[in-house]
Amino acid sequence: MEWCAAGEEARGGDIQNVASELRRTFISGITRSLEWRKAQLKALLCLLCEREAELCHALALDLGKSAHESMISEIVYLRNSCKLAKKKVKKWATLKKVPIPIVAFPTSAAVVPEPFGVVLVISPWNFPLVLTLDPVIGAISAGNAVVLKPSEVSQSTSKLLAKLIPMYLDTTAIRVVEGGIAESTLLLEQKWDKIFFTGSSRVGRVVMSAAAKHLTPVVLELGGKCPVLVDATADLDVTARRLAFGKWNTGYGQACIAPDYVLAEASVAAQLVAKLKKVLENFYGKDARSSKDHCRVVNRRHLERLRSLLEEESVCTTVVHGGEVDESTLYMAPTILLNPSLDSAVMKEEIFGPILPIVEVDSMDSAVEFVKTRPSPLVVYMFTKCKRHQQNAVGTIQAGSVVFNELALQFMLEGLPFGGVGESGFGCYHGKDSFDAFSHPKAILTRGFLLDVPFRYPPFTEYKKKVVRKVLDYNNIGALLALLGLSRDHKSISNFEADARKKK
Ligand code: NAD
Repeated sequence: MEWCAAGEEARGGDIQNVASELRRTFISGITRSLEWRKAQLKALLCLLCEREAELCHALALDLGKSAHESMISEIVYLRNSCKLAKKKVKKWATLKKVPIPIVAFPTSAAVVPEPFGVVLVISPWNFPLVLTLDPVIGAISAGNAVVLKPSEVSQSTSKLLAKLIPMYLDTTAIRVVEGGIAESTLLLEQKWDKIFFTGSSRVGRVVMSAAAKHLTPVVLELGGKCPVLVDATADLDVTARRLAFGKWNTGYGQACIAPDYVLAEASVAAQLVAKLKKVLENFYGKDARSSKDHCRVVNRRHLERLRSLLEEESVCTTVVHGGEVDESTLYMAPTILLNPSLDSAVMKEEIFGPILPIVEVDSMDSAVEFVKTRPSPLVVYMFTKCKRHQQNAVGTIQAGSVVFNELALQFMLEGLPFGGVGESGFGCYHGKDSFDAFSHPKAILTRGFLLDVPFRYPPFTEYKKKVVRKVLDYNNIGALLALLGLSRDHKSISNFEADARKKK
């Protein structure tokens, strides 16, 4: 969106206009039709196919992502998400009958998914395409009008989306607003019917406070520290490869689902470090700086933040691999720490970069206890063949997901809900869950005018009260017949309690 030069006030006016234009469109009902939804999904799919080169170029400018990484971690995923939504939207949007209890006879009950209305999607810079457009796919399939606000940090992708979306999609219902904190703040002052925010827990709190003013429901997809637990039963070669790929090849550690730190059983920690070093050399050569197969740190501010994590006294002596920084290319080497202090910032703050601390633990049980005392993460990864350890993790750790012997794959599976819990957020999306995230399940009850039984209306005689209560308590057919005036069998009514006790 082009801003007029007149500053904040004009921008506020523009944003208000966008919100009210979209509301008019939503009220017109156009976004509710299945034809409109499918046409928009098809158009978005065309954008993702026809503009592949431009999209990859923007991601390369913003993050130094290779075309291969952009394709597998963003573009192909989005295409599949569009295809799935286009194929399934009719089924998802169809009214579903709900069984009714016998006492409600003769009525019918159903649930129909209802679009919220005009929704706002705010996204971060690290996967600036997928984290912006995947929620938009959910919003469109559910029949909403949508404003999307990409991150100003990934500005090439933001600009490109602002250029391409109006070329492909219906601008009366789908709009891009570009900008940073000022524009986000103006956006958050408007009334939205749902806000879908992906970003830091700090800004998540800002979003939720703003939403509270309008009683707007929110989905918060936040960050945190995702632990990786490794025990002595794990195949360390496979573990090292998957761990290295998940950490350094998926956004170079700048992913909400990237492994943040490792808790390894002491008997295998040193071997794991040695294998990781070897894998890094196999992946990127002796000096990872020259490899085109990983992206870079997003900007100087983040490079400085990461460098300061390494400079802390209790941390700098624990670097066992990497640590080099080149400001001119925004490069920090893949870095491994062994046993940094648990009180250091690197073990307390979300790292969001290529540093991987490994901490030795005496057992998996103590690793699980450690994770349980920390804020609930988006994902817990565990590398193990031990069923008891797996059950312990699933049964006792509160986390958005638990993943065994794999890394980041859970994000790609449309059948799995993706979302956090506690400090890592709430609400979820992907596949059908994206549709549900942007739909209100509207309940519908229909009844004809027949059988308007007098029992439900005053004056309430003792007999009437007794029958009505029994019917409601036990959903009992005999009492129902009495209620309908089809039986006056007092005995059967007085036997309800005995029947109910027997059933129990
Ligand atoms: P961020 O919270 O700084 O910014 C996210 C969005 O909010 C951006 O569009 C930004 O312009 C806007 N914003 C920033 N400050 C704001 C303010 N004060 N008021 C209103 N809007 C504001 O996050 P980021 O640095 O872009 O992304 C990194 C964070 O996002 C990490 O914490 C990461 O874990 C998290 N994240 C979570 C997921 C997930 O799916 N759970 C995915 C990716 C990233």
